[in-house]
Amino acid sequence: MIDHLIKVVHETYATDAPIPLHAPIFGGNEAAYVADTIASTFVSSVGAYVDRFEADMAALTGAGRAIAVVNGTAALQMALLLAGVETGDLVITQPLTFVATCNAISHCGAEPVFCDVDRATLGLSPEAVEAWLEDNALRDQDGIVRRKSDGRVIRACLAMHSFGHPVRLTELMALCSRWGIVLVEDAAESLGSTFHGRHTGTFGRLGTQSFNGNKILTTGGGGMILTDATLGARAKHLTTTAKRPHPFEFFHDEVGYNYRMPNLNAALGVAQLERLAAFVAAKRALALHYITALSGRVEVVVEPEGCQSNYWLNAIICEDRAARDRVLSTTNAAGVMTRPIWALMTRLPMYAGCDHGPLPMAEWLEDRVVNIPSGVTERMLA
Ligand SMILES: *Cc1c(COP(=O)(O)O)cnc(C)c1O
Repeated sequence: MIDHLIKVVHETYATDAPIPLHAPIFGGNEAAYVADTIASTFVSSVGAYVDRFEADMAALTGAGRAIAVVNGTAALQMALLLAGVETGDLVITQPLTFVATCNAISHCGAEPVFCDVDRATLGLSPEAVEAWLEDNALRDQDGIVRRKSDGRVIRACLAMHSFGHPVRLTELMALCSRWGIVLVEDAAESLGSTFHGRHTGTFGRLGTQSFNGNKILTTGGGGMILTDATLGARAKHLTTTAKRPHPFEFFHDEVGYNYRMPNLNAALGVAQLERLAAFVAAKRALALHYITALSGRVEVVVEPEGCQSNYWLNAIICEDRAARDRVLSTTNAAGVMTRPIWALMTRLPMYAGCDHGPLPMAEWLEDRVVNIPSGVTERMLA
């Protein structure tokens, strides 16, 4: 299986040189737009590309408002604050995610509670969340959800769309509204992915994206908050030092954040976004190719029913942890970069003590899932 995988990847990328897991490509207007910001001197916190990038992203996703920020972690922190998360609160999330999901919770002074994931989506399981709430939470007379053991408020549920595959949003939305918990989506990996035709990141009250260098689209570093017009105006204010608009006066009406995306980065984003549809199409074609070429040898993760995934990263599911380790060492030695899915958040020192439900599926996947090269090349776009 491993030799076949290496052969398939080499043939797919038509090279014998080392193949990265994911690399950005800049074959469109990237250089021109970035040069434009330099020529205009507007490289920093003011400039037309930020407005354009936000408008383009709102149009693409259908969000009421999109607010560009410095990175995906900052976007998540702001989204959670705007969801009402306060110091001492609890936020339900999945243990199988990139650490930024949990760090953003911590940056709000809150603490994650981990519930298991679904095999089909690799993301938060509505049944696991429901079961944890049934056993551990109560709604008080004011409708606030609290942990039975200590009365701490369970304010939000943060679901993440792993590798671009949407979680079961219909059930999660119903569950959150039944309990009175705010749903927030970490859509950092799912730009271009839809759930029953609607863009991920627009189902929760707030959603976020990341444009880090390894994502489907990059601004060097960057992130976006997706929400409605009202919360969007709050997000803009809060992420731009809470300055009251005025041509020359400096007046700030609360402790704000300097999280605005620089115009230089937004210029890159506008150019990258022009090619997003082509990137998604090429990535979907690449996924289909892997599914076909690896069929009968190893299981490839496929998009959940009713969804269109951007297939940001393709993933295979190995027999067991030993098989996974053989795949990782052999492929990487052969110049085919692969990497295991994240260690569960419950294993990291800062989150090891956090509350959690049973996590059998997360543990099973942690032992078996490996990402394989998934970047798009200019040749694939042609
Ligand atoms: C990339 C990513 C983020 C945000 O990362 P930044 O590097 O801060 O932009 C958040 N959550 C997930 C799941 C991610 O993959």
